[in-house]
Amino acid sequence: MYLAESFAQAGHDVQLIEKEQSFMSRASFNNQARVHNGYHYPRSILTALRSRISFPRFVKEFGTCVDSDFAKYYLIGKPLGKVSAKQFLKFCERIGASCEPAPSSIQKLISPNLIEACFSVTEYAFDAQKLRDLMVSRLQAASVRCRMGVLVEKVRQQGTGLLVTLRDLATDEQDEIYADHVFNCTYSHINYVLARSGIELVPLKHEMTEMCLVEVPDELKKAGITVMCGPFFSVMPFPSAGMHSFSHVRYTPHYEWLDKPGDTYCDAQMKFDEDRRTSAWRYMQKDAMRYMPILGECRYERSLWEVKTVLPRSESDDSRPILFRAHHGLRGFHCVMGGKIDNVYDAVEAIASQQLLN
Ligand SMILES: Cc1cc2nc3c(=O)[nH]c(=O)nc-3n(C[C@H](O)[C@H](O)[C@H](O)COP(=O)(O)OP(=O)(O)OC[C@H]3O[C@@H](n4cnc5c(N)ncnc54)[C@H](O)[C@@H]3O)c2cc1C
Repeated sequence: MYLAESFAQAGHDVQLIEKEQSFMSRASFNNQARVHNGYHYPRSILTALRSRISFPRFVKEFGTCVDSDFAKYYLIGKPLGKVSAKQFLKFCERIGASCEPAPSSIQKLISPNLIEACFSVTEYAFDAQKLRDLMVSRLQAASVRCRMGVLVEKVRQQGTGLLVTLRDLATDEQDEIYADHVFNCTYSHINYVLARSGIELVPLKHEMTEMCLVEVPDELKKAGITVMCGPFFSVMPFPSAGMHSFSHVRYTPHYEWLDKPGDTYCDAQMKFDEDRRTSAWRYMQKDAMRYMPILGECRYERSLWEVKTVLPRSESDDSRPILFRAHHGLRGFHCVMGGKIDNVYDAVEAIASQQLLN
């Protein structure tokens, strides 16, 4: 949506094709809603520093969609943690991010044998529903033509441009549109379009994820907790539902698979539709209670399920670079994926630097 708006503002005639009935109903809704400010990436300094640049920009541009009305704490877990408190403090200093000892009201809620230190930091959450409404009105203002419930099936070269085959999911009717440039921003579905078009797949790692939505006890209503950095968990305000999201490094991903060039494509949407969805909430809660016994008082409401897609190289350092493949397989066909919501800024920059649309 953000890219479509920027292209339209630059004077291009833009059509945005979405297979769901509304925008931002997939990964951009089914996520943890964290506006990253660097803290989450002690193992990837580049992602941390990019987040530090994007954070103030995102908060300024989308302030009405950002919830900053809660205290955010990063707790350093042990003994399985990959960073110590000392290393985390040093890292925060390196990226210029504030990090103070947490107040006693939080310190007293933790199990000291499993938490080495608690820090107060600055990190916010976004309201995906508000963000969607804002972006829909911005797309209208920029005269972007939007088509909902329409699946992009494939692209092929036609003269100097591209023919895109579409299928209306309500009527099953096919039609085609012609474009000079096509941006494939379909996140977990990027390789669907490539496979159907006979283009080499991009290496991607997918996880079937479960994010629980819970009511937290009063002590945590205005707080977000992230335990770093290992097989731990996060409890964050989830503004669009008025609840907290609860995720766990070990239990949020239920299973994973890889897309590799040369392999037969495995349709991420089909996996999503067919998933049996047995919640791991009890496991998440049971483990998290060891670190903060008060989490035993959380009331489970429901789960958000989504295919999470990252670059395979992120597996080792948890980095979140963008994927940008200009002219991938066909002239004028470009693949773009952001590993977090504020990566739109990096994507716009990367596209501009290639002067693709001049
Ligand atoms: C569990 C989880 C937790 C996360 N936590 C955070 C977080 O806390 N903070 C953060 O910044 N990021 C987080 N992320 C990452 C973030 O959600 C994504 O980086 C971001 O939403 C990607 O935006 P997108 O527009 O590329 O993808 P999407 O929002 O998924 O948009 C892609 C759209 O393409 C449509 N589409 C797919 N295929 C086709 C097709 N063939 N034809 C037409 N339309 C199609 C889909 O329906 C979808 O609406 C998380 C992701 C997950 C899954």
